[in-house]
Amino acid sequence: MTNENKSLFAKIPSVDRLLITPALEEVLTVYPRPLVLKAINQILDGLRAKIKSGDVTEEGPDLSLESVSNQVVTRLELISRPSLKPLINATGIVVHTNLGRSILADRVLKKFKPVGGGYSNLEYDLDQGKRGSRYVHVEEILKELTSAEAAMVVNNNAAAVLISLETLAKGGEVVVSRGQLVEIGGSFRIPDVMRKSGAKMVEVGTTNKTHLRDYEEVISPETALLLKVHTSNYQIVGFAEEVPLSELVKLGSRYGIPVMEDLGSGCFIDFSKYGVVKEPPVQEVLAQGVDLVTFSGDKLLGGPQSGIILGRKNLIEAIKKNPLNRALRIDKLTLLALEETLRIYRDESIAVKDIPTLRMICEPYKSLKKKAERLLKLIGKLETKNFSFELVDGNSRPGGGALPLSELPSRLLCLVPGKLSSHSMEAWLRSYDPPVIARVENERVLLDVRTIQERELKIVAQTVKDLALIRK
Ligand SMILES: *Cc1c(COP(=O)(O)O)cnc(C)c1O
Repeated sequence: MTNENKSLFAKIPSVDRLLITPALEEVLTVYPRPLVLKAINQILDGLRAKIKSGDVTEEGPDLSLESVSNQVVTRLELISRPSLKPLINATGIVVHTNLGRSILADRVLKKFKPVGGGYSNLEYDLDQGKRGSRYVHVEEILKELTSAEAAMVVNNNAAAVLISLETLAKGGEVVVSRGQLVEIGGSFRIPDVMRKSGAKMVEVGTTNKTHLRDYEEVISPETALLLKVHTSNYQIVGFAEEVPLSELVKLGSRYGIPVMEDLGSGCFIDFSKYGVVKEPPVQEVLAQGVDLVTFSGDKLLGGPQSGIILGRKNLIEAIKKNPLNRALRIDKLTLLALEETLRIYRDESIAVKDIPTLRMICEPYKSLKKKAERLLKLIGKLETKNFSFELVDGNSRPGGGALPLSELPSRLLCLVPGKLSSHSMEAWLRSYDPPVIARVENERVLLDVRTIQERELKIVAQTVKDLALIRK
C-alpha cells in the first residue's frame, strides 16, 4: 500500500464522529439506530474499497464529515425503501410473469382490509359451529362456472400439477407426447415435475407428430395416467400433429385410465368473441370428458397466484387427502381474492370490464388509439435534442404463455434516439420513481398504452417530459 493510501485511510471519519454530525443526528430521530449504523458501515466500506483499489483522483475522495454524512443519508433512504414496489408496465405484455402477472380488480382489493385485517370463517363452519374446510369458499362457484363435478385449489399451477401427478400416478407410469415435454419460464419443466411426483414418464411420438396409436402401444398394467400438456409459450407449426383431447379421453375410458390436461393458462371466456385468437375455455375442455384439468389463477383468469384443479369427484377427493396438500395449500388472502374474482365471472359483460387482465386483452385498437392520443396531449410540445417522439402502430401480447402466437394490434409511443441512445432511455425510465418498464425494438423505445393504466398516463407523460430535460 502506498503512503498516500495510508494517509487517505486515516482521513476516513469515524463512526462516532459521524453519528454526532447534524445530518445524522437528525435522521436518528426518524430511523432506527441499527439501520443508521448499517448505512454508515456500507458507506465507509465503500470508501475503503475505493481507496484500496486506487480508484481515486489526484486530490482523493471527499472525506469531509459533511460529504460522508450526506452520503450516509442518501444510502439510508435507499436501504429503508421497500423492496417490492409498484411500477408501470409499458411493455404491452398483459400477463407479464416478471411484473407480477395479473392485476387484481378493484372489487377484489376492497376485500383485503375487512378479511385480512380481521378474523374470518376461513376454516370454520358457521352453521355447525365447528371446524370447516377452507376450500368450500371457492368450490361451489368453480363448479357453477365450469360445470365441473368437483374442484379444489392450491398455491399455484405448478403445485396443482405436482399434487395431481403424485396422487394419481406415484409409482406408476404417465404417458405424455414428446411434443408436450415443455419448459415454462421460471424452471417449470414437465419431466422434472414428473420425477418429483414419483411417477415414471413414458414419452411417446416425436417432437412434431404424435398419433393415437403411439399412446395405445405403450399402455400396460403400470399405466396410471394419460397426460396432455398445453404447450403454452411455444408452438409447433407446419408438419405437426397432436392427438385431440377427445380422442385421448376415448382411449382412456377404453382402458380405464384417467386423462389429465395441464391447461397452463385456463380461461372462462371465449376470447374470439372479442376479436382475439381463441383459447378453448375450461368449460369446453371439461365437456370433452377429461378427468382432471389444472390451470393458473393469475394468467388469463386474471386472479391471484393460485392453482385450480377441476374434475371427477373421486380424484379431487383423493388429491385433497394427499398430505402434500398441507404444504401446497392456498393462503387466506389468495383465497379471498380468488373467490371475489370468480364472483365477477358470474356476469361475463362485467368480467371483461372489471377484471383488468380481460379488459386489457380485449381492449380494441380504436380505444387504444384514443388512449395514446391522450398520452401525447399530456406530454405536449417538447423542445429537446435528447430524442424525438411519435405514435406508431405495433403489437401487444397476452403473455403468460397464453395464446402463444397471438399479437394484439395496439398504438405505442415511440421514442427515437437523439442525444440519448435507446438503451440509456430505457434504463433511465426503469430507474424512475415509479419505474416505467418499456420495450426496445430496432433502436427505438416503445411504450405500449395497452398495459398502462388510465391513472398512470399522467405519470408516464411526466416521465417523458423529465427525460427531455436531462443532460447527458
Ligand atoms: C404457467 C404454466 C404452469 C405453471 O403455472 P404456475 O401458476 O406459474 O405455477 C404449468 N404448466 C403450464 C402448461 C403453464 O403454462
